[in-house]
Amino acid sequence: MSDAQHTDALRPETLIATAGVADDPAFNSVSPPIHLSANYAWRDPLEKPQYDYARSGNPSRTQLEDALAQLEGGARGVVVSSGMAALDLLLNLVDPGEVVIAPHDCYGGTHRLLTARAKRSQFELVYANQTDPEELAKAFARKPKLVLVETPSNPLLRITDIRAVVELAKECGAIVAADNTFLSPALQRPLDLGCDIVVHSTTKFINGHSDVVGGAVVARDQALGDDLAWWANCTGVSGAPFDSFMTLRGLRTLFPRIERQQATAGEIVTHLENDARIENIYFPGLKSHPGHETAKAQQKGFGSMFSIEFAEGVDVIELLRQLNLFTIAESLGGFESLVCTPATMTHAAMTPEARETAGISDRLVRFSIGLEHAEDLVRDIEQALDVAGKAGAGKVAYLSKGTASKCA
Ligand SMILES: *Cc1c(COP(=O)(O)O)cnc(C)c1O
Repeated sequence: MSDAQHTDALRPETLIATAGVADDPAFNSVSPPIHLSANYAWRDPLEKPQYDYARSGNPSRTQLEDALAQLEGGARGVVVSSGMAALDLLLNLVDPGEVVIAPHDCYGGTHRLLTARAKRSQFELVYANQTDPEELAKAFARKPKLVLVETPSNPLLRITDIRAVVELAKECGAIVAADNTFLSPALQRPLDLGCDIVVHSTTKFINGHSDVVGGAVVARDQALGDDLAWWANCTGVSGAPFDSFMTLRGLRTLFPRIERQQATAGEIVTHLENDARIENIYFPGLKSHPGHETAKAQQKGFGSMFSIEFAEGVDVIELLRQLNLFTIAESLGGFESLVCTPATMTHAAMTPEARETAGISDRLVRFSIGLEHAEDLVRDIEQALDVAGKAGAGKVAYLSKGTASKCA
């Protein structure tokens, strides 16, 4: 739907296939070179060159920043060392005493960062269920300076109506930033929906090959983008040239990857939908999903992430052990299919009570679908479920101990 709003002459697929290609003034290399140099020579002490020091800027990072800005439809992108660095960069926009609104079910690392900084009185923090209009109105009564949105949420794929949040933010002049990690600009463009800033963990779909940790912010307006770039240089969180090169390389295949991955996710969900061993499937593509209509209105696809709450007779730990094609790992959005039990892995840092409030049960399993063939993945889940269904028969849920402070 956001295609219609494209003012760029070139389609995003074309933009990323051509970004930096055959654009090397030194040797006409077709694939962009990596500029690893930490510093750049001045011709004259009075003539500041385009690049002088790699923390402030380097050609490899600029190529990725420009590509991401174009993809998200913003004025300026800033590439940083991780998704967490990108989120922390935003917090430089708020002064002590000012209010930040964040989703109650945001990414665990974001929750940890916001809570820790608020504890040091760097701002006032309000968590709200952003899918609940009443709670949202109550939070906005605090007149926020910055509102963070994350949709779909992790691991329950709750959908927040971005336009509704933007509407409320306009009334009080708040900055709205959307964490677009779960969908990427291929499936959702928050700036088109009125947000001021988009945030990414480029570790996930943007790079897509599970071999770089990185982050980015894209601002709709130049001045805000320049401000964020100033802070990235000031605090030293800017992204490395090699990582930028790798991430641009991964980015080139974003569209075919995510289109294939979400088609496969849809096939698997359709196959499992009526299985008696399943209590609930959290996938925005299902008509029964409470956010289905909103997702349809603001997304170009439903993505390749889903979570399943298995029935009590299923031993989910055994299920994970039996899966052959899914790697038990945190992170998401890569070419490889991953599986995790949020209660013992990604969300283990939360207390059992906090997990219960957030709706994360011990029988919840999160899937990130990769590029394997759908039929192979379905068959793998079936065989694992056959074993785990028997293993868990008659067994009541087991306890998971909150141990490591892990978030992915
Ligand atoms: C992974 C993730 C982050 C953190 O990114 P890192 O690159 O791991 O620092 C932030 N938000 C969301 C939604 C994520 O999935």
